[in-house]
Amino acid sequence: MKTQKKDIRALSKQELRDFFISRGEKAFRGNQVYEWLWSKGIHTFEDMTNLSKEMRAHLEAEFVINHIEVDSLQKSQDGTVKNAVKLHDGLVVESVLIPTKSRTTACVSSQVGCSLDCKFCATARLKRMRNLNPDEIYDQVVAIDRESRLYHDRPLSNIVFMGMGEPLMNYKNVLASIDKITQDEGLGMSPKRITLSTSGVPKMIKKLADDEVKFHLAVSLHSAIQETREQIMPFAKNFTLDDLRESLEYWYEKTKRRITYEYVVWKGINDQQHDIDALVQFCKYVPCKVNLIEYNPIDDGDFQQAADSCVDHYIKALEHNRIPVTVRRSRGKDIDAACGQLANKQ
Ligand code: SAH
Repeated sequence: MKTQKKDIRALSKQELRDFFISRGEKAFRGNQVYEWLWSKGIHTFEDMTNLSKEMRAHLEAEFVINHIEVDSLQKSQDGTVKNAVKLHDGLVVESVLIPTKSRTTACVSSQVGCSLDCKFCATARLKRMRNLNPDEIYDQVVAIDRESRLYHDRPLSNIVFMGMGEPLMNYKNVLASIDKITQDEGLGMSPKRITLSTSGVPKMIKKLADDEVKFHLAVSLHSAIQETREQIMPFAKNFTLDDLRESLEYWYEKTKRRITYEYVVWKGINDQQHDIDALVQFCKYVPCKVNLIEYNPIDDGDFQQAADSCVDHYIKALEHNRIPVTVRRSRGKDIDAACGQLANKQ
């Protein structure tokens, strides 16, 4: 039976150095290969031109470079670009480039499908097929950076983990990808320009704080009433608001970085005064801001965006309590690239 070649990008720099030492070569060869793989982003061993032909053939015999391919690219009227990204095993995820006047943001996926079951999200219907590897997340960012330079004449400025999947259910790989994105040998981006969005997995939020991460945290709250949250995000039965609150207090205690709560206001679900009161109360536990997201319909009509007047009530109540609030308009709706619409329709 043919032995399977190893994915070379699963090796750390030290492991690459050790590989060369074990072959009687100089350790710095490992650094050279690492640089080719990450900061130079090459796809074949052939391209590693500072290695001898023989050495390249050795690598080729033992390893593969599993790179992604941007399979199809859709452009929205508002400048948003959606990539369907084909992985080495044929599965597909989506990532999105979102340009505004002052920044270009990459919205990247962390899983194929999703581990969680939010009723309002198209990705949840795909179920989770597998976690993405660090290099598969990194490659999405590289692809979007290229597109940003090509279509908007500027490099990527921000990254949000708000594509397909629950990043905290793929903790190790997501953090490894962020390491690569922020290292000088990778993309050298500041962690302050990265936001990880989670549905709220308390244990892992505490772990983020313990691991002293330097990026921002956003939590998809959508309701501060346990019963309501369970209805729309059934996993919340196991990850209760009390536990979430405790983990966020822990996060703030350790990082001193405020949280962003993402929140959609739906007709008949969370559009009453007691919903607003509960959110205001929840916002008092930890320094935060609220991002009111416009709902992007996903076909079956169970969920409908509440009237503007309801959203205004939320804004007034939050402002009255000195809680910063912003309203996020949808981008790329015409190509199903907006929040919660990523479902490999193609
Ligand atoms: N699993 C992570 C990240 C992916 S979802 C999380 O839940 O945070 C990114 C954001 O889009 C979340 O805030 C999510 O609640 C929101 N979202 C999901 N479906 C949506 C929809 N149909 N319309 C608007 N926002 C949606």
